[in-house]
Amino acid sequence: MLKQALKILNTIEENGYKAYIVGGFVRDYVLGINSLDVDIATNATPQQIMGIFPNSVLPKEEYGSITIYIKNDRFEITTFRREIKYINNRKPIEIEYIDDLIEDLKRRDFKMNTLCMDKTGRILDYFDGKKDIENKVINTVGNSDAKFSQDSLRILRAVRFATILNFELSNEVKSAIIKNKSLLRNLSYSRKKQELDKIFSSVNSKYGVSLLLELGLDQDLEIYNLDKINITNDIIGTWASLEFSDKYAQEFSSSEKSIIKDIKEVLKTGITNETLYRYGLYTNQIVAAMLGYDKSKIVGIYEALPIKSKKEINILGCEIEKILNKKPGIYIREIYNKLEEEILNHRLENNKEKLEEFIIQNYS
Ligand code: ATP
Ligand code: MG
Repeated sequence: MLKQALKILNTIEENGYKAYIVGGFVRDYVLGINSLDVDIATNATPQQIMGIFPNSVLPKEEYGSITIYIKNDRFEITTFRREIKYINNRKPIEIEYIDDLIEDLKRRDFKMNTLCMDKTGRILDYFDGKKDIENKVINTVGNSDAKFSQDSLRILRAVRFATILNFELSNEVKSAIIKNKSLLRNLSYSRKKQELDKIFSSVNSKYGVSLLLELGLDQDLEIYNLDKINITNDIIGTWASLEFSDKYAQEFSSSEKSIIKDIKEVLKTGITNETLYRYGLYTNQIVAAMLGYDKSKIVGIYEALPIKSKKEINILGCEIEKILNKKPGIYIREIYNKLEEEILNHRLENNKEKLEEFIIQNYS
């Protein structure tokens, strides 16, 4: 991936422009972590980049960057820029393309994210990024208060990087976050959820949650019981343990929403034959993890259920009608519900004669 990236830098430079790898890739490279995508900064405009790489993908959002895919690797090429005006403490609405790398680095969020690599693989460190990485600390490029008030996403990025890298936030960063945290309310729920997902699914998530609580971000994130979070391998279990604003709803698929609802139901009663039957193995296994139960035991109990759906009840509707000598009606459903309950609780065997007997005794 690095080789490919350097090749791209060389191609851009052969066309007479400057180009550097910047941001996460270089930070992770210094840390010895494999990066999934590469950000490249250049003084060539998006149009000029498209001229050099005809197969590149057009700008994503209005952010004016060009994406190149080589096999599964992603290279995002962004023109050096100055951000002039921000809207809603998030998006720069006015940018200006510039020719100067250092000016471009000044608009970036954290010092560790300003490290660059040139086409020869040499690392350029204009803002003490390496020092922060060595000290495992996160500092903003320039005044922290200004950085967070310009773009509140940076608040969550700070916590996310601290979590994933196990870094500290500098005192200046912490105070500026606390001062600007109410601006999180202007951030889209989709951005909030994306960052929270990364924090919650990190192996270091406990630290991330403790930072969110320490900084008091839970209120502005509209999560009401963050101190009660139950972090599970399955992120959906983690979300199910939280009470949060309905405005996050559209960030979950309908199946995720229904699993969250089911998990909450199972948590009320605990795992029983009934919950295994009604909500299925997957949901109950998530609850098992949340309660610290042995997952394989839950599989055993599920496998041993006498029936796994109504269809498995060994008598047909028309047979019930015949036994009772009655016309079809909603009473059939009532009987089925009763049979289901009795079978599930091992009070009735699921075989035709036993079922017939039961129906005659109770319903004729
Ligand atoms: P990762 O890709 O691992 O999430 P990253 O640091 O590469 O981390 P990206 O979102 O890919 O993050 O952004 C690339 C670079 O762009 C960052 O390293 C940073 O320099 C800059 N950047 C991204 N988002 C912002 C922002 N909201 N404010 C300022 N600079 C940003
Ligand atoms: Mg990146």
